[in-house]
Order: sequence, then structure tokens, then C-alpha cells
Amino acid sequence: MEKKKKLYYRYNVPSNKEKKLNALQKKRLASVWIPKMIVCFLFLVIGICSISVYKMMFFPRIQLEGSSVITIPYESKYEELGYLSSYQGKDLTNQVKVHGKVNFKKLGEYPITYTVTYHGRTVSKTRVVKVVDNKKPKIEFTTDKSNLYICPNTKYLYDDYQAIDNYDGNITDLVEVKETGNVMRYQVQDTFGNRTVVERKILYKDVEKPKLILDASNTIMLMVGDKFTDSTYKVSDNCSTDVKVKVTGEVDTRKPGEYLRVYKAVDDAGNVSKVEQKIIVMEPVKKGVIYLTFDDGPRSGTTDIILNVLKEKGIKATFFVTSGGPDDLIKRAYDEGHSIGLHTSSHDYSVVYSSVDSYFKDLKVVSDRVERITGEKSTLIRFPGGSSNTISRRYSSGIMSCLTQEVVKRGYRYYDWNIDSRDAEGGRFDSSQIANFVTSSLSHDKVNMVLMHDIKVTTKDAIGQIIDYGKANGYTFEAITPFTDMVTQRVNN
Ligand code: ZN
Repeated sequence: MEKKKKLYYRYNVPSNKEKKLNALQKKRLASVWIPKMIVCFLFLVIGICSISVYKMMFFPRIQLEGSSVITIPYESKYEELGYLSSYQGKDLTNQVKVHGKVNFKKLGEYPITYTVTYHGRTVSKTRVVKVVDNKKPKIEFTTDKSNLYICPNTKYLYDDYQAIDNYDGNITDLVEVKETGNVMRYQVQDTFGNRTVVERKILYKDVEKPKLILDASNTIMLMVGDKFTDSTYKVSDNCSTDVKVKVTGEVDTRKPGEYLRVYKAVDDAGNVSKVEQKIIVMEPVKKGVIYLTFDDGPRSGTTDIILNVLKEKGIKATFFVTSGGPDDLIKRAYDEGHSIGLHTSSHDYSVVYSSVDSYFKDLKVVSDRVERITGEKSTLIRFPGGSSNTISRRYSSGIMSCLTQEVVKRGYRYYDWNIDSRDAEGGRFDSSQIANFVTSSLSHDKVNMVLMHDIKVTTKDAIGQIIDYGKANGYTFEAITPFTDMVTQRVNN
């Protein structure tokens, strides 16, 4: 054993001669190969530098703005980040040709190549645009987003959500829903691993109002004596099956007036839905009645005298006022039982008939004035020139067709006339002629709506004669009320 061990030892240990030879070899390697390698390296560096210098000296340069690899989300547009090109201080940016298209509707990598050629020497650079899907899918709810209300004693129907992904489309089927405690957790992942998680609190409670829809309009017009019946309706509820509907509010069709009928639906949880229906009971058409109507006032010196005559004769009439004249004459007319209507504030055709908005803006001014003075909102309207006027065509084509419908929609009623006293025709007629125009047109077979102007001196003198004639011939005089049937002319614009 001892001998073998010694042999082994001897075999591995070099002799002194061998040691000397090895050292010599290493010396030679160091003295020959290392300088050779340094020379090679220097040549390489010089080579690279020469190429760079050569390129710099003789080739144009392109410099990309922004990164050479960029990522954009699927379906968002790629916008060129810009580039610069020059050759020895000369700007060549305009000569750069850009090739390559990015299809933002398809995932992938799109190279964009920028090439410039100058004096036959071409240089190009490439930018890579990666279109990726990094958008999370969306989970949307048709009911409350943060709370999940479930009808008491029922189960969740899993029917109030959907998941939409920008790339995969509708992925509602992939949504995993888990109920833990009083939290419902919705989770979905798109093809590219973008994940969305939404949590909602579960509440076993009915918070939705019943749905109540009347089969009729919310405003019903009736004439005195007509029969009124409640409208039929449809009622439904998310939780309750048998929802009771109570109807309240008195309607008396024997009396003209505005009545309110309220339909009220209540579900088992006490949620309430209300629908209000307005029932307007109109006066019967009053044949043989004379409605004296006065436009354009009030005016001191005429309106007050007309009011005196009306008072003396015990007659009620209607005044369609503007923004002119003193407040106290409107107040007096109202207090003495006459009706106050609206004739626009400015009475300027070019203003009120320039547009529907302009008309209502002007009307509001006079409406506010009347409400301020009388404490009551007037719903009676007379259009300057009547609804049949053609002057409005100058300012807006078709405006009377719009306005006549729009005023009614907004709860007003408009009154034209069927007897013209012609008192506005520039003083052409004296008071007897004016009275005669009226009295000769009166009839017991129609409503007599008489147009007059309380700003005219001749009108105040004619009024007594008209009233005396009317009374002597079996006519009665009334003021227009919100329940008087409209008297309308043919619209011509
Ligand atoms: Zn007028």
C-alpha cells in the first residue's frame, strides 16, 4: 500500500526540468501572444472608428424621436413620434421616407422604416410598434352598481350584468360569480390575461318603485256636462305581484275648472309611484255671448274711462295687456272682475316673431308683470296681429304654425276674434261707425269675440253704444276665463 501511494505521488509531481520548461513556455506566450492580441484589438477599434467616421463624413444621419420600440393598446391609434435627418448640418428631415403601417385593429408587431438617400448614399432606421391588448374587460350592471338588491324570499337570477372586452367582445359567459357572506364577487379574464374583479353588497330588499303607466294623456279636456271616467293603466313591480292602485281627486264636470286626479301605486315594500292627471272642464260654447276684448293697453286717459263705462254698465271684459301703461290700471281692471290676458311685452313684430324662443322670452316679461300686479298667472293669450297675421312671414317663415301649437302645449289658450271694431285703423272711423261695425256683426248663433283697443280715444266713446245695443237685443257680456273655448282664425304662416 505504501509503495503504490508513493508511485501515484511521483506520477503527478513534475520534475524540476519540467517546471523550468513550463515557465519558459508561459513567458513566450506572454511575450508573443499578448502584444499580438493588443495589436488586433487596436486594429479592430481603429476599424470601427474609421467606419463610423466614414459614415459620419459621407452618409446622412437619421435620429428617431422617442423609443425605437413602442407599445400601443389595441384599437388606439398610432401617432408618429417624429424623426430628424441631416447631413453635415443640412436638414434632410423632409426627404425621409417612412414605410410601414400599423393596423391598430390587429395585435402584432409592426416595423416602421425610415429611409433617407443623399447623393446616392442611403441610410435607414427601424422602429417597432407593438399593438397589444392590455385593457381590462368591463363588467357592467343594469341595476345598482355597488349594491345588489334582491327581492325578499327570492334567489339571485344572475341576469343583471354583462362583461365586454375591447378585444374579445361580449364575454359575459366567462364571468365567474361567487357569493361570500353578504358580498357578490364577479370576476372575468380576457384572452390576454387582463382581469377584472367587481364586488357588490347583497341586500335582500325591494327598493324599486312600481311602474305605473296611464293609457291616456296626462291632460284631459272635457266640456261641461261630459262624462268623466278614470283612465285605464298598466302597473307592474319588480318584486310584488299584486300592486294596488288608488285613485284620488275630485272631478266635477258640471263646473268649468281644472281638476287633479292622482293615481297612486304602492308595492309590498311600501315603494310609491304617482301619476297626476289634469282634467280641464271647459265652459260650453256660449252662443250669443259677447266677449269685449281690449288690446295694446293699458293707457292713462282711455283705459280708465273704459273701465268707468264697464263699471257703470255692470259689464265684464278682457284686457290683453303689454308692458306699457301704468300698473294700477291693470290692478284696477283685475280687481273689478275683468280678465287680464297677455299680448306680448314689446308688441314689436320683428322681435316677437323672429323665433319661437324670442316670442316666449318676450311673453315671459309681460306674464311676470301681470303675475306681479294681480298675484295670478295668466294663461290667456292674444297674438299681435292675431294668429292669422302674415306680417310674421317677414321675420320667420312658418312661425305662427309653430306658436299656435306651442302655446297650447305650454298650457296657454289663445283667442283671436270674429268681429273687428276697426278702431285701430288710424282714426279713419268715428265712434258711431266703430259701434256700428260691431253691432251689425253680432249674432245669437255664435260666440261674439270683439276686437277693440283700449288705447284709442274713439273706442272709449263707442263702448257705451255697443253695450246699450247688446243689452237691448238680448245679448249677455262675459269676460274670457281659462275655461272659455278658444276662438281661432286660420293660420297663414
Ligand atoms: Zn295689438
